[in-house]
Amino acid sequence: MKIGDQYDNDIYRPAAGRYDSMKYRRCGRSGIRLPMLSIGLWHNFGHTNDLEVGRNMLRTAFDHGICHFDLANNYGPPYGAAETNFGRIFREDFAPYRDELILSSKAGWDMWPGPYGNWGSKKYLVASLDQSLQRMGVDYVDIFYHHRPDPQTPLEETMGALHQIVQQGKALYVGVSQYSAEETMRAASILSEMGTHCLIHQPRYSMMDRWVEDGLLDVLGDRGIGAIAFSPLEQGLLTNKYLTGIPEDSRVARDGRYLSEDQIKEDKIKKVRALNEIAQARGQSMAQMAIAWLLKDERITSVLVGASKVEQMLDNIKALDNLDFSTDELSNIEEILKNDE
Ligand code: NDP
Repeated sequence: MKIGDQYDNDIYRPAAGRYDSMKYRRCGRSGIRLPMLSIGLWHNFGHTNDLEVGRNMLRTAFDHGICHFDLANNYGPPYGAAETNFGRIFREDFAPYRDELILSSKAGWDMWPGPYGNWGSKKYLVASLDQSLQRMGVDYVDIFYHHRPDPQTPLEETMGALHQIVQQGKALYVGVSQYSAEETMRAASILSEMGTHCLIHQPRYSMMDRWVEDGLLDVLGDRGIGAIAFSPLEQGLLTNKYLTGIPEDSRVARDGRYLSEDQIKEDKIKKVRALNEIAQARGQSMAQMAIAWLLKDERITSVLVGASKVEQMLDNIKALDNLDFSTDELSNIEEILKNDE
């Protein structure tokens, strides 16, 4: 029997011990604790994907205490499909456990044609969240994000929309994604003047993309805002997946829009090979070490991974078994990464 087969054609009953081994971290200065590993539905939940694989990944995640699922209006393909497919899985499997789940969605990238389906206007954010709730079949999301900064719309309007959404009970908490340190400070101040706390920031952060270390994490720490790191595995590059070429069942081969063949450069692979040796010496897979390395900073509330297979989820979950790094390991990792910049 393959992993996940036990779930086919039956009623889902989550594992009784699902909270026993997962570790949780407080999200900034708030009442919410998030699992240190969360799952994102950007890829692998569109209409071109096998819904049952997605279902089994979410079940596996929840069975291991991963109670945070991250979505956005435009995850698919096509746009909206991940929320629609999640809505079906939610209805069939997770509805009885709604109060055990943190569900998030976002708006900020292009979603529908015309001037009101993109960026950061109140018109767009409010309408988009209503659509997301409908697709997912839920009354509220736990976290609603503005997905990226909008240089044209006054931040007061965008944050005003987030505040209103909380007042209306359509989201319990709000956050921002891809905002710079400076933009985050301003956004958090505007929100807090209205009486809404900025719960969380969702930045891109991995061993190979460390921009958050240059000011953002300090702002988040000072302001009591949590952080959830997206694309922590560089979309698969920081795993053993591409060490010997480009496998057919990979993001690069399936859909090169976000990670393309020309991004799998030999100099990067050389680094991953060297990092992988350190991971092996630690008794970890490359992916596990890449996740653990992010969590060494307590300001990182959670690491938001994607997966295309149940086996990958299981591999990633084991990252939490070894979160400690020796000084030597850290300096050896720095030495390898240093040449990357
Ligand atoms: P990752 O960096 O975690 O990449 C995920 C991919 O890595 C998988 O699809 C899989 O690739 C591969 N992989 C995962 N685990 C393993 C493993 N153990 N061994 C080998 N390969 C593995 O993250 P994503 O880029 O998918 O982003 C994660 C989430 O972050 C998204 O789903 C979304 O929720 C969020 N996000 C937010 C953004 C924002 O702007 N706020 C932007 C982008 C993402 P393969 O398919 O090749 O098997």
